[in-house]
Amino acid sequence: MNYKDASIAEIDSAIAAAKAAFPLYRRISDAKRAEFLQAISREILAIGDELIQTACAESHLPEARITGERGRTTGQIQAFADFISNPSWKKEIHDPAQPDRAPLPKPDLFQTQIPLGPVAVFGASNFPLAFSVAGGDTISALAAGCPVIFKAHPAHPKTGDLVGGAISKAVASYGLPAGVFSLIHGASNEVGSHLVQHPDIQAVGFTGSYRGGKALYDLAVRRPHPIPVYAEMGSVNPVVLLSNKIAENPTALAAGLAGSVCMGVGQFCTNPGLLILQKKDAFFLDLLAEELDKLPLGTFLTPGIADAYATGVLNLAQHSKKLTSRDLPSPALFVAESATINRVVLEEVFGPCTVAILVEDETEMISFIESIDGQLTGTIHGTKAEISEELVDALLQKVGRLLFNGFPTGVEVSGAMVHGGPFPATTDSRSTSVGTQAIYRFVRMVCLQNRL
Ligand code: NAP
Repeated sequence: MNYKDASIAEIDSAIAAAKAAFPLYRRISDAKRAEFLQAISREILAIGDELIQTACAESHLPEARITGERGRTTGQIQAFADFISNPSWKKEIHDPAQPDRAPLPKPDLFQTQIPLGPVAVFGASNFPLAFSVAGGDTISALAAGCPVIFKAHPAHPKTGDLVGGAISKAVASYGLPAGVFSLIHGASNEVGSHLVQHPDIQAVGFTGSYRGGKALYDLAVRRPHPIPVYAEMGSVNPVVLLSNKIAENPTALAAGLAGSVCMGVGQFCTNPGLLILQKKDAFFLDLLAEELDKLPLGTFLTPGIADAYATGVLNLAQHSKKLTSRDLPSPALFVAESATINRVVLEEVFGPCTVAILVEDETEMISFIESIDGQLTGTIHGTKAEISEELVDALLQKVGRLLFNGFPTGVEVSGAMVHGGPFPATTDSRSTSVGTQAIYRFVRMVCLQNRL
């Protein structure tokens, strides 16, 4: 089937329907919205095997991964349904009046949250279910009371249609206006650009590349009425490897790290693409290279991502030393020294490769960390005794999530999760796109004074 770009008239009509649906949708109770979200989940499951097979065929991801991702998607929907079922989600604050206060009486003040309005959502190619049509951005916006216009990803249009159909069925079965959710296709940037610039769109949720997220952010802030853009973009996710921890079991650590680098053909935004260690521990890199040399490359999501990986690793080989032995493109490890680094090696190459940066000592390690961009995650492999407060503090300034003795691939959906981080990991470091706190991107606080 050929998926034509939505015409300007089609995009405008989806936005007009969302605008028309908003007054009713924002006023239904949280309990009814929670039921509606659960109906979406049931409709997704009702698609059955066709959804799994379609997503596998379009993404080249294995069936176990897609089945797991469907579970994560429905689990995420349930988490938001539970979250809005507890009125405390609105963080309401009541400051009672003090009519007798001198010299002036104090008014009664009540703060609550209201939804922003129609939201445009863009999903990424690498999670055809969990970060796509019914992914965290869509569900957190719907949970907040915002209609959603979803721009389907051209890498999995049929999967997008199946899930979009499930959401529309749930909309109809709850008697909600059809404009609560619309799906539009588009392989050209005009579709997304028009959507983001439309005056009736009130916020944007984006998951994808830096290039895409920043382009849409720039368009949104230049609008006559700028709107918030929550773009979650790429990251190299620094992993600090400290001497005593390496010495404990270097082979197991190398195998674990290689597995994380190659998981999902390295196509994760949390992929560990940057390692930082002291020169005296460089022997560990030989072990890591051996482990990477054992792992297959796998099939990329799209020919475009495969080409970008091939170009990206050749570029890394020009500006650093390759330690793995196979010809490129393959899972790869590169090394460079902090003192002489060409900073192009710090840019994300989406796929199963990582760059190790060697430093003299902890002082140089910290100043290198201070020099890097914002990241979704940071990781320290170290014993309790060797992890200094200064190192933790330096990493916290750069990341949304700091892991100790683990691997950054794999993002738990829960209340405490932060999947965000300082720019350029995201365009708003105060937000998360995973976990229930993601809802606060699509509401704003209002104060009612002396409400009756
Ligand atoms: P992508 O190419 O940026 O695509 C994301 C969406 O944005 C697509 O719908 C794309 O449509 C649209 N888009 C991109 N550039 C645009 C522009 N200039 N104007 C209008 N629309 C535009 O990203 P991807 O290949 O799907 O995903 C890979 C990247 O996503 C990696 O960098 C990865 O690290 C990152 N990622 C981040 C997270 C996270 O949570 N932070 C999660 C997963 C992936 P078109 O294809 O039609 O242009």
